Amino acid sequence: MSQGKLIIFSAPSGSGKSTIVNYLIKQGVPVEFSISACSRAPRGEEKHGEHYYFLSPEEFKAKVDADEFLEWEEVYEGSYYGTLRSEVNRIWANGKHVIFDIDVVGGINLKKKFPNKALSVFIKAPSVDALKERLITRNTESEANLNMRLDKAEKEMTYAKDFDLVIINDDLKMAQKEAYQKVTDFING
Ligand code: 5GP
Repeated sequence: MSQGKLIIFSAPSGSGKSTIVNYLIKQGVPVEFSISACSRAPRGEEKHGEHYYFLSPEEFKAKVDADEFLEWEEVYEGSYYGTLRSEVNRIWANGKHVIFDIDVVGGINLKKKFPNKALSVFIKAPSVDALKERLITRNTESEANLNMRLDKAEKEMTYAKDFDLVIINDDLKMAQKEAYQKVTDFING
């Protein structure tokens, strides 16, 4: 397909959005995950071209100047993240729709760029306390990092109203089922 659709999943860190996105892919929904570019260093097992395209801040900036991004943002101080045009075109050329797991502001910006071709979905954790618990259980963040993510999460919760659809991830199985239904309806519609 020369131009498919875009399914945007955004949520505060720790809301379970990656689990839901991976579930859709496993269920055989014809979507492929958009790999973002970012300027932070890889963590743990992360690989270039799999989790992110890891760029130096200079390389990232050169791509901004060359207008290679559909959207980009300084998500955390000094750390840039963005969606490359080439990534979306690569996935469409592969006959798939593109699925995004991105920051709330990035999600809103992408939806504005593709008002009819994009479905934007906000995954909401039941509460900030539940978010905190999930982030602590995940145990990948330092204390300072955890607080930074929680501050950002509280602000992001207020953006839910700007999305086409809000799914509350209280019960993961129910949230997955709802996401599957809505996304397949949108793709087939
Ligand atoms: P992390 O460092 O934990 O991998 O990701 C940090 C944040 O960057 C997450 O909230 C994630 O959704 C966001 N993010 C990842 N890729 C993109 C992107 O392409 N654009 C924007 N705007 N945010 C992104």
